[in-house]
Amino acid sequence: MRNLTCIVCPIGCFLSVEEGELGGDGFPVLSVTGNRCPRGAVYAQEEIRSPKRVVTATCAVIEDGAAPDRSEYAPRRVPVKTSGPCPREKIDGLLKEIYRTGVKLPVKAGDTILSNWGGQGIDVVAVRSLG
Ligand code: SF4
Repeated sequence: MRNLTCIVCPIGCFLSVEEGELGGDGFPVLSVTGNRCPRGAVYAQEEIRSPKRVVTATCAVIEDGAAPDRSEYAPRRVPVKTSGPCPREKIDGLLKEIYRTGVKLPVKAGDTILSNWGGQGIDVVAVRSLG
């Protein structure tokens, strides 16, 4: 039995998940209780079979006339986030790429910084405008 908190809506139902026998897809059949709506069961299924997270981080700003400092210690940074959830096992690689990426200003909130990262269909977009 595993316990999870559903994060799909602010109610945050406390879910209990029981793993049954293997189903036709090779995964155990899950029995979910505690969810107030069907979205909780879908969330539990995804969280146990292939957990994903929206990733937030920052990219270095490439200052005019200065040698680009793409390190995580660059003084000015652009906050970014993924356009959708990223498989958890890919997050380390994605963060390395984000920290290697330098952004020239100006940048507007919503601008794409990395497109279709790793062929995952995930963009990394700016969260804030910087001029
Ligand atoms: S199970 Fe439904 S009601 Fe409960 S937190 Fe998840 S989405 Fe919200």
